[in-house]
Amino acid sequence: MTRGVAILGSTGSIGKSALAVLGRQRERFRVVALTAQANRAALERQSAEWAPQLAGLTCERGPEFLVEAATHPDAHIVVNAVVGAAGLDATLAALRAGKRVALANKETLVMAGDLVRAAAEAGGGELVPVDSEHSAVLQCLAGSPATLGRLILTASGGPFRTWEAGRIATATLAEALKHPTWSMGSKVTVDSATLANKALELIEAHHLFRLGYDRLEAVVHPQSIVHAFVEFCDGSVIAQLGFPTMELPILYALTHPERLPDVGVRRFDPVAAGPLTFEPVRSDVFRAFAAGVAAGRAGGTAPAVFNAANEVAVAAFLAGQVPFGRIAEAIERVLDDHRHEPVRDLETVRAADQWARGRAREVLQ
Ligand code: MG
Repeated sequence: MTRGVAILGSTGSIGKSALAVLGRQRERFRVVALTAQANRAALERQSAEWAPQLAGLTCERGPEFLVEAATHPDAHIVVNAVVGAAGLDATLAALRAGKRVALANKETLVMAGDLVRAAAEAGGGELVPVDSEHSAVLQCLAGSPATLGRLILTASGGPFRTWEAGRIATATLAEALKHPTWSMGSKVTVDSATLANKALELIEAHHLFRLGYDRLEAVVHPQSIVHAFVEFCDGSVIAQLGFPTMELPILYALTHPERLPDVGVRRFDPVAAGPLTFEPVRSDVFRAFAAGVAAGRAGGTAPAVFNAANEVAVAAFLAGQVPFGRIAEAIERVLDDHRHEPVRDLETVRAADQWARGRAREVLQ
């Protein structure tokens, strides 16, 4: 029997990669629902090829449509590739409905990690990361999660890895979108340039693997070949390696803990991959990273505020309204002005998210 897959955000970078993976696994999976934000032509092409039972644009059918697709009765697996806070309701609904959520929407966990975990426990749903670093950790852990000691996630360092702080502050959009190793959507590409992405990922890892921040680290690795290191309680370290592609973590999120043969991914070649180098994160220069990690450590509503301020600032940068340096500055100011509180329920998260969006817009004026 084939397993039904719903893809939220099917016309974005992750959505297209997911369909490429599924195209090679048609005897195992079928597509039952597709949602896209606004790209009608691309959605129609995908629908013609995959004949899903449900397909539509969220710009027309509203955010409830994401929930409808995420809880489709024939969907066993929901690939959540929506960008930003908009993906939260669908993640919660799918987990409550007992689905496996293949999560590319890391903002969901950053905003409301405890609520997401509670939804999975209540509904019997399962959360499997699509993010390459977290997929790497999951693969390294196979069989011995209880002996996990420390995680080190790698970061490419982005296009400004070696730049002086002053030059970074005035970087152009074209420069920020020129990612050295990964081909991704524009929001996560800018997040990789500020290194906010790595802070979001450390918070994501905190929730996925239930580790305190003293056992979570990031290291810059410009080649993006090693995706994560897992240190076990005896000091032994296992890493997961591969040429940068999202297709491998997507397939693994669909099949975990099993593996399926796949000829679509470039085979590894250590000589072509090397040499591999590692450097510390320059957290004094990449202040969005430092602010995000501090928000993660503070907990409560602080990570949701960090995420919301970052989303607003990145959107303003992408729209050409503010220079690159204002992204980190806005995040710092909004977090400074925020009095964080414990997350009691979804309303607490939403209120913090809305407040932070408003404050970020004021700060960016
Ligand atoms: Mg990642």
